[in-house]
Amino acid sequence: MAIAIHPAVDGGIKPVSAKFSGGTLECACNNNAVTVSVASQIAHNHLCGCTQCWKPENALFSLVAVVSRDKVNVTHGNNKLSIVNTDAIIQRHYCKECGVHMYGRIENKSHAFYGLDFIHPELFKEEGWAPPKFAAFVSSIIEAGTAPEDMSEIRAQLKSMGLQVYDCLSPELMDIIALNAAQSK
Ligand SMILES: [Zn+2]
Ligand SMILES: [Zn+2]
Repeated sequence: MAIAIHPAVDGGIKPVSAKFSGGTLECACNNNAVTVSVASQIAHNHLCGCTQCWKPENALFSLVAVVSRDKVNVTHGNNKLSIVNTDAIIQRHYCKECGVHMYGRIENKSHAFYGLDFIHPELFKEEGWAPPKFAAFVSSIIEAGTAPEDMSEIRAQLKSMGLQVYDCLSPELMDIIALNAAQSK
């Protein structure tokens, strides 16, 4: 039996469409849903095993990508949004009714990822967004309750889906963080 990783990848990873140039994220409310327009393709899409990112029920990982913050606009239901933890580096704006995280924003201008918003692409009503290429913070799913003895099977399954497996971020993103640290010295 295959392990349920995340609903957006369990049935096979859908390919990118050259026509996709953004779309609308929608929360899980049946009525009066929060909508957020994203006016660009996404970048660095990946599965994340950390305990901070929002994930659908029964998913082992969250699916998270970045977009430039000036491309992100709340188009409906801004009054239903609240911030999970105002002390966190990423201010995660979530729907108070259904709990879905709509976008995460960094307000600290010296942070390596300032200018990028974090979004969950499975919330797009449209298809064609860039698919995930790696899984980050894989070992962290143990903090959420996964047994350590299940990890090798989970890593093998991620690799069989064509995903690189990391216990931190991908090398490209770690390089951005390191460069930012070097430049701020
Ligand atoms: Zn909602
Ligand atoms: Zn995460």
